[in-house]
Amino acid sequence: MEKTAGCMPVIIGDDISVTSGELPGAALLPKKPSVLMHACCGPCSTSCVERTAPDYALTLYYYNPNITDREEYYLRRDTLLQFLEAFNEEHKDMYTAGYLEGAYEPERYIDKVMPLADEPEGGRRCDICFALRLAETARKAKELGMDYFTTTMSVSPHKNYEKIRTLGLELEEETGVKFLDIDFKKKNGFGRSVELSKKYGLYRQNFCGCDFARYAAVKRKRD
Ligand code: SF4
Repeated sequence: MEKTAGCMPVIIGDDISVTSGELPGAALLPKKPSVLMHACCGPCSTSCVERTAPDYALTLYYYNPNITDREEYYLRRDTLLQFLEAFNEEHKDMYTAGYLEGAYEPERYIDKVMPLADEPEGGRRCDICFALRLAETARKAKELGMDYFTTTMSVSPHKNYEKIRTLGLELEEETGVKFLDIDFKKKNGFGRSVELSKKYGLYRQNFCGCDFARYAAVKRKRD
């Protein structure tokens, strides 16, 4: 299904289609390096996009099989699109960010992490979850001939950047696509994402993504 968000076309669905994040007439400007940025959700994407869009031709890639609750998965996707539409409209004379959606395949995630259901957040289950999403992003970036790949996951203070970075550099070696090595929580990245989420009126979830994390959040609240 194809929709329009602000001044850019948005492709929704599993087909391989991509918007470049370049403005019409960008051929006349020095070419910016292209980046496929894995987006875990709208709120985390806000400050990452704000920080990188001036220097890179960004395409946000929504690939999150870890969000096993279907309703939550689409709510987060629509929140990301809400943000991109508003951001692109606001910056349309300077730069825009594109959007690409991966397949929704929660069974792929569940198969991999089920033996680690009792792991705490930040443990081995999360390592597998990062690897699944980042590897798919690197693979897609290679397929699309992009210069870089990266992820918005590092905005969260709960995410260990060294683990993400190590994985990113391994995937760079494997695919030949460069890992854009930015810890987005630095330079007040998380605080800024909270400010921007308020500014754009975005839904902000209170758990990471999987049902394991959701139940842990409910339990914390109850205890
Ligand atoms: S807590 Fe978050 S990072 Fe860890 S497995 Fe669940 S969704 Fe993935």
